Amino acid sequence: MFQSLINLFFPRVCSGCNSILLTDEIVICTTCRYEIPLTNFHNNPNNEAISKFYGKVPIEFAAALLSFQKKGIVQEMIHKLKYKGHEEIGTTIGYWYAEELKDVAQIKTIDCIIPVPLHRRKLRERGYNQVTTFGKALSESLNIPFNDSILVRNVYSKTQTKKSLLKRSELNTAVFDVHFDESLTGKHFLLIDDFITTGSTLEVCSRALLKIPDAKVSIVCMAMTQ
Ligand SMILES: [Zn+2]
Repeated sequence: MFQSLINLFFPRVCSGCNSILLTDEIVICTTCRYEIPLTNFHNNPNNEAISKFYGKVPIEFAAALLSFQKKGIVQEMIHKLKYKGHEEIGTTIGYWYAEELKDVAQIKTIDCIIPVPLHRRKLRERGYNQVTTFGKALSESLNIPFNDSILVRNVYSKTQTKKSLLKRSELNTAVFDVHFDESLTGKHFLLIDDFITTGSTLEVCSRALLKIPDAKVSIVCMAMTQ
């Protein structure tokens, strides 16, 4: 009854299509859940996500749950998560993906989940890192620690466009720092982000993490542009 009253005054809407959610629907409606395009990358070790990194940086496993298409359900969801404060979308995608990933052999060897960091200033402006709730849901479901203090972003970039203007060489040396001690030697890190486009940010983050002796890196994102 109380929940129905809340819904009456603050209607919960689907993050994919904005239709009113039924009582037992959480974050996305049943229709969107069936229509949302999935990559199924986790069932294919040589998928399009990992092929982004071939010849650039050694990655153990890479995958993304959703297929990102312009003006589609996924774009709507990621936009609300990133710019409208709807952090519960990350939680939902995290629990969903954990169910798919839990039987993947490489995932079973992960020691720590690490988000692609925002710069301190960006974090202040936005108020949250859009991948934190995704990472924490994966962490809880897969029983793997989440750590957002190992990898740090040094350079503030106002927009994606501006960032792409930075030369690759600059990205490689200056943008990310890794803070570690001997306890992280030989660990397998799961680097996470909202989506994979060119893969260049993930590549640079992976390089930073691979400064840790004998470290291994895998990558999991919510979505991938195809
Ligand atoms: Zn919907």
